[in-house]
Amino acid sequence: MSCPVCGSDAVDALFRAADVPVFCNVQWESRERAFAATRASLEIDVCHRCGHAHNAAFREELVAYAPGYDNSQHFSTTFQAYARSLVDRLVVTHGLKGASIVDIGCGRGDLLTMLAQRSGGRGFGFDPSASSTAGQPAPGVTIFRKLFSREDAQEIRPALVCCRHVLEHVVDPIGFLAGIRESLEATGAPVLYIEVPNGEQLLRDGAIWDYIYEHYSYFSASSLAIVLEAAGFEVVALREDFGGQFLCAEVRPAHRSGKRPSAARRVPDSSEIAAAAERFRAKVARWRDWASEIGIAGRTATIWGAGSKGVMFLNLLGLDAPKPIDFAVDQSRNKHHRFLAVRGQEIVPPEHLAGSNVDEIVVMNPLYRGEIEERLRGMGLDPRVLTA
Ligand SMILES: [Zn+2]
Repeated sequence: MSCPVCGSDAVDALFRAADVPVFCNVQWESRERAFAATRASLEIDVCHRCGHAHNAAFREELVAYAPGYDNSQHFSTTFQAYARSLVDRLVVTHGLKGASIVDIGCGRGDLLTMLAQRSGGRGFGFDPSASSTAGQPAPGVTIFRKLFSREDAQEIRPALVCCRHVLEHVVDPIGFLAGIRESLEATGAPVLYIEVPNGEQLLRDGAIWDYIYEHYSYFSASSLAIVLEAAGFEVVALREDFGGQFLCAEVRPAHRSGKRPSAARRVPDSSEIAAAAERFRAKVARWRDWASEIGIAGRTATIWGAGSKGVMFLNLLGLDAPKPIDFAVDQSRNKHHRFLAVRGQEIVPPEHLAGSNVDEIVVMNPLYRGEIEERLRGMGLDPRVLTA
C-alpha cells in the first residue's frame, strides 16, 4: 500500500479498528435504527515521506452524502469566536469589502452568512447535501444544492472561494482541487481558503477519537501543500489554528511560469509514528479500565459532545446504551432526542442533566471544557469532569 498523496511506499500502520459507524454525523430517530447503522473498518496508515495519513480500508461507495448530515459546530461559543476571527482576517487581509464570496461544501451556510455580513458583499454556497429544510438563508446569501461549476464561477466572479472540511472526504484531492482551479480559470485570481483537520496534531496529541470513517485523508502541512501545488495553486499562507486542530491554507491559482514549490516541511519519522501508535493503544486501554471501574462502582457517566469525537469514543471503547452510558449531552438543538450511530445513546440538551444523577462527565473536545464547566456551575451541578 502506498501513500495516495506522494506515492511513497514508506507507509506505516498506525491503528486498526473494526465495526465503526460509516457516518458519525448522522443521528437516528430510534435506538433500534442506531444499533443497525452501517459499520466499516479503519486501517489508518501514515506516510513518513510526507506525513499524510489515510484509511486504507476506505470504500467511497459507502460514503454517499445525504441531507440529514450534521457536522455544524456553530452552537459552541468557542467555535463562534474562532469563526469570527477567521472571517475578520479573511475580509481584512484580502480586501473583501462588497465582494462576492463562494463557499464550496457550505452546509447550513453559517460561515458564509458571517462572511457576507462582515464584508457587506454577497455569499453563494454550493453543497449537494445542504438540507432543504434548513430554513431561509440570510439576506445576501444564496445556497445551491449542487456542485460548483465553471459556469457558476464565471457568473459570480468570486474574490474569495472557501472550502472548509471537504478535502479530507475526497479520495482524489488533487483531482478535486484541480477541478476548482479549472473553474476559476477565467475569473482572475481569487483567493482559495482551504481548511482541514490537522492530521499532525492528531498524531502529536494521540487524538484517536478524531479518526472517522467519513475521512479518507488526514493531512499534514506537507501533504496539504503537495496536493495544493500539484493542483496548480500557489500557497500564500499555511498555518495551524483552532488550538492546533485545523490546518488553514490561503492559496491563489499559480502562474505556470512563476510556480515554485514551497519549502520542505518536517514530517514524522518511523519511530515517531510507532510512538504515536503506542500512545493510541495506551489511551484506549486506559479508558476501557475507566469504563469497567464505572460499571463495577455502579456510577453513572455521560459524554458531552455528540459529534464525531463522542461517537468514536463510544465505539472504540464498545460502550453500548443503556449501560454504562445511556445518553450524550449536546447543545445542538437539531440533534436532540435522536440516537448515536451503532452504540445507541440518546442525545439530550444540557438541561437534561439537572434531573439526572450523573456522577462523571467526559468532555469530548478539550477546547470546550471551560464553557461546559461554566454551564454546569450555572445549573448548580458538580459532577466529576474528565477530558477524553
Ligand atoms: Zn506521502
